[in-house]
Amino acid sequence: MNDMQVPQFLPGEKPPKKPLKIRWQIALGFGVFILIIAVLLWVFQIAFLGAFYRTIKTSEVKNTAELIERILEDSGLDTQVRNLSNERSINIVVTDEMGTQYSAWKHSQRDCLLETMTRNDLRVLFNEVNLEGGNRLSVYSSPFAYEDGVRPDVILYVDIVRTQSGFNRMLLIESEITPVDATVETLQVQLVCVTVIMVLLGGILALFIARRISRPVAAVNEAAKELARGNYNIRFAESGSKEVSELAQTLNYAAEELSKVEGLRRELLANVSHDLRTPLTMIRGYGEVMRDLPGENTPENVQIIIDETERLTNLVNDLLDLSRLEAGVMALDVTRFNLTESIRAILHRYDKLAGYSFPFLAEEDVFVTADELKISQVVYNLVNNAITYAGEDKTVALEQTVANGKVRVSVTDTGEGIPEEKLRDIWERYYKVDREHKRAQVGTGLGLSIVKHILELHGGAYGVVSQLGEGSTFWFELPVSPALGQGNDPPK
Ligand code: ADP
Repeated sequence: MNDMQVPQFLPGEKPPKKPLKIRWQIALGFGVFILIIAVLLWVFQIAFLGAFYRTIKTSEVKNTAELIERILEDSGLDTQVRNLSNERSINIVVTDEMGTQYSAWKHSQRDCLLETMTRNDLRVLFNEVNLEGGNRLSVYSSPFAYEDGVRPDVILYVDIVRTQSGFNRMLLIESEITPVDATVETLQVQLVCVTVIMVLLGGILALFIARRISRPVAAVNEAAKELARGNYNIRFAESGSKEVSELAQTLNYAAEELSKVEGLRRELLANVSHDLRTPLTMIRGYGEVMRDLPGENTPENVQIIIDETERLTNLVNDLLDLSRLEAGVMALDVTRFNLTESIRAILHRYDKLAGYSFPFLAEEDVFVTADELKISQVVYNLVNNAITYAGEDKTVALEQTVANGKVRVSVTDTGEGIPEEKLRDIWERYYKVDREHKRAQVGTGLGLSIVKHILELHGGAYGVVSQLGEGSTFWFELPVSPALGQGNDPPK
């Protein structure tokens, strides 16, 4: 674990305003929501209540007038007017143009204006309203108070109509607008209660929800800080909401990968330093012996020094190749070439390897369009591995088959094989199945990773089939390049 500081903001940048914690953001959201609801309730229930009530009453009065207009000539007019008066708590008077009353029903518990109007008053009113166009709506404070002294506001609607038989009738409808102030007071008390309950409930709910949401996020955040400090073994709790648990899953995956990479990096350091040190020790040792003991200055000893420098060169080349392949800066030098011939040439170089046999089965010569040098490196790496891990029979069998426009090259050995669970990992760089094994010391753990990168650059498939104790077959595929003209000569 290193001592990396988790940066809060970029260096040189002004520290940004500290954002609120999720918990407070949610609580704030709830607070604003409750405030809006409370304000809306107060505005509608208290400020506009009088106006609402008046509008409703006015339309009720007009609607009653329309109903009565339709039944003016019915014999049951009086009964119906009484019913309407009772149902709607209004006072109704029906007269003719001379002020003669046909029906008059009062609902108010107190004196009302309509009662006090004489025949003459009604006749005058008829004329006035008739001149005004046939109807009049007035709102005024009633001159008659209840016993407690409260004087209600009253709507008086006067409507002049002509019956089907051609008689003039005047409808007077009086409706009380019950003192709104009293109602408002009741509502105010209620609203205070509702608001207090809302604030309390909202607060509790907001805190509860905020805790539920913020707790897993805070946990993930804490774990992520640990991860940033270099603790790759940290695991994220996959709890909470869907998003948070997905985030935790992703971070867990990232942490696992980071931990793998970190492990591989450490191994690389160990491997590379070990791999560099071994040949260097040999070179130095042999050099010193040859310097100090003239008799040891033999071609064999010189050869050992040359071999060891070659090992070093190979290692450094492998490392360079891989870092270039991984950085994606390695360009392919693509030509059309005879793959079969290329493989034969490679195998030819192993002729001198005592005791090993390299049978190569190929029905025809196949051309591919690819980077010849890199494909040769693939074959080399596979054959080298097969030799390293070959079985008792010291046979490395190669086969070339063609199917569906693709050529498949496979390299088979009869060695120890690879455990199934390791088959995926061997393509990772610096990976060695058996670190303790003597033979594993031979390689760098880079060979198959280079093979993988080269084949991926070519868009070629690759893979391995292995049976523990029986051997492994590594294979790769490339598209066959169609024949050019008559001969199959590669282009210059
Ligand atoms: P190395 O340089 O160690 O061979 P590679 O990347 O070529 O590195 O191979 C990675 C690991 O895969 C090897 O260390 C070895 O454990 C395993 N491996 C590769 N080829 C074979 C094979 N033909 N038989 C058994 N194991 C193999």
